[in-house]
Amino acid sequence: MADYKSLERQMASGKTVEVPPELRAWLSRRKRLYIGGEWVEGKGGLTFPTLNPATEETLSEIGLAAREDVDLAVTVARSAFERGEWASRPIRERATVVRRIGDLILEHRVPLAILESLDSGKPVRESFEGDLPRAAGNFHFFADFALQEEGMYFDNGTDTHHAFREPLGVVALVTPWNLPLYLETWKIAPALMMGNSVVLKPSELTPLTAIYFTELLQQVDLPKGVFSLVHGFGENSTGEFLVSHKGVDAISFTGETSTGRAIMRAASVGPTRVSFELGGKGASVVFEDASFEEAVSESVRAAFRNQGEICLASPRLFVARSRYEEFVEQFVDQARKIVVGDPLDYATTMGALISQEHLNKVTGYIHGAEGHGNLVFGGLRPNHLARGYFLQPTVLTGLSLDHPISREEVFGPVVSIYPFDTEAEVVRAVNDTPYGLSASVWTRDLDRANRTARSLRTGLVWVNSWFVRDLRVPFGGQKRSGLGREGGKFSLDFYSEWKSVCIKNPLSVGNP
Ligand code: NAD
Repeated sequence: MADYKSLERQMASGKTVEVPPELRAWLSRRKRLYIGGEWVEGKGGLTFPTLNPATEETLSEIGLAAREDVDLAVTVARSAFERGEWASRPIRERATVVRRIGDLILEHRVPLAILESLDSGKPVRESFEGDLPRAAGNFHFFADFALQEEGMYFDNGTDTHHAFREPLGVVALVTPWNLPLYLETWKIAPALMMGNSVVLKPSELTPLTAIYFTELLQQVDLPKGVFSLVHGFGENSTGEFLVSHKGVDAISFTGETSTGRAIMRAASVGPTRVSFELGGKGASVVFEDASFEEAVSESVRAAFRNQGEICLASPRLFVARSRYEEFVEQFVDQARKIVVGDPLDYATTMGALISQEHLNKVTGYIHGAEGHGNLVFGGLRPNHLARGYFLQPTVLTGLSLDHPISREEVFGPVVSIYPFDTEAEVVRAVNDTPYGLSASVWTRDLDRANRTARSLRTGLVWVNSWFVRDLRVPFGGQKRSGLGREGGKFSLDFYSEWKSVCIKNPLSVGNP
């Protein structure tokens, strides 16, 4: 066991984290699939590499799940469900296991944070202080929340009706690379809490923390087959085999809107229940009366945290014309202070983008803006970094609202700032994209905040804040940003079936 306490001290003192030899040895072992409580080789014997985006080196070889492996994972998940060792276990006992999973994540926060940063390129400080506590929090939250739920009971004299939840069956979870373990656990925790069997397919670009997490799951009392992990790509590969499988009862997917469309077509085999958390094109609206310093610094965070690779990011900034120049100046000053560098250095505030392909896509958008707007900061690979998919935080102004950067999801550290004159105008501008996930409004005027929040066609609006979550409220997008809601009761609804039972009351005998 590595001395993770000393690594934690290294992190706390702001030093670069050394990958301990134990974790290096772990990485060097070929990774397999986890099906029916066993680590198994993929049937085709194929593997694919997962790369470190900061060094472009291979971190590990990952076993690829063929169609037969996916089939086996779904079959064992079904038989585990039907055996009922988990599905029929009293919910209080399931909660004890689910809570313990959260504890295990916290106990292994250091190696998990290092793996997450190695695999995704994000700063280890964000993994350690943000993603990992949130991942553990998903288990703690759903263990407690599900226990507080009330059923229904109605007595109308001649008969009584009561309704309660039942597990759904086999759920397929398909997740992206940008917040890997955090988003996987957001689905696994309520799915397990509701008594389902789970088959997880993490992103092919960031499979490592899911593997380490699955090793941790072996320490808890989860019957064989209740949790399986399969690896591979999307189209014509593991992801598609899973979502088109007739044995799957529900699919929870987070990823691109275009992938959501493909999954919806595949899910028609059931038809299978789906929940989609899709792309976004968030915005911050800064009114002239906003608490200015806070609006600037939070807008910088909303634009560049996690290299801008967050569905809830705000890559569009609308600023009241009277404060526009001042805002751009201060925003750029702060963007300049962002430290782009080695994700394992605790002082780094922006790491590497996920892949060469993604870097090409993001820089393609920046080049496409030439001649249409002004590049006021960034736009280039940082000179001091010889390798890795790094990009400077990039700030553009002067683009029209119908430019692709203003409407499409770039999903990188690129923001575009626009002046506005009236509330009606800015509401129209924010709503003028196919997406509708999130927005932030900065003002001290309560009526204006309320009016604007209600006029924006997004699933979430933050007023004078960004990225603050309460897991009880519905989470999801309007328009092309999603289908359905997760969070609190909404997750429990998705991962369970309601059953209503009617019992005829006995005729009363004698005096009532
Ligand atoms: P992606 O859609 O390319 O891939 C997501 C997952 O789907 C991966 O595991 C991939 O292998 C799988 N997949 C791809 N094609 C598939 C297919 N045809 N059938 C089955 N599975 C398939 O998304 P990404 O690039 O990994 O992630 C970035 C996207 O995720 C962005 O659009 C971002 O906005 C979105 N996202 C949304 C939220 C949200 O809560 N709304 C959160 C995070 C990320």
